[in-house]
Amino acid sequence: MGTKGREIIGIDVDKLVEELNKALADEWLAYYQYWIGAKVAVGQMRNAVVAELEEHASEELEHAGMLVERILQLGGTPLLNPEDWFKVGNCDYEIPSNPRVKKLLEQNIKGEQCAIEVYNRLLNLVKDADPITYKMVLEILEDEIEHEEDLEALMGDLETL
Ligand code: FE
Ligand code: FE
Ligand code: MG
Repeated sequence: MGTKGREIIGIDVDKLVEELNKALADEWLAYYQYWIGAKVAVGQMRNAVVAELEEHASEELEHAGMLVERILQLGGTPLLNPEDWFKVGNCDYEIPSNPRVKKLLEQNIKGEQCAIEVYNRLLNLVKDADPITYKMVLEILEDEIEHEEDLEALMGDLETL
């Protein structure tokens, strides 16, 4: 990115890139968790759950793209090796070895709750220091909050069956 664009950032840019890369690792694992979950899901309300999981997968992939764009703008290097996803990520990957929709929903709700914490912390980090990253993180946080709400609503529907 341009010299001035980098200069106006009020926190250590390398540290910021590191945080964005950690979130990038989380997004890829979240993407795969949703994507593979949608493939293996079984049980009641399967179709509704699969549709939501697929939608969320594509949104996590979009988040990954946004993070990479910003990392590059900041002059950083995005994670290049999938091996790093487990090493640097903030959130756990929940293996969907039990494909019942209720179990998948529980695991993905946990993931969203971790994501909300991560982006909320990131938001505070850049609040007065980097308005461009702030705007991006705010957008992602809005999506993660919606994701949690969607999954909890599905869980509620399942419980009233
Ligand atoms: Fe995300
Ligand atoms: Fe999400
Ligand atoms: Mg949704």
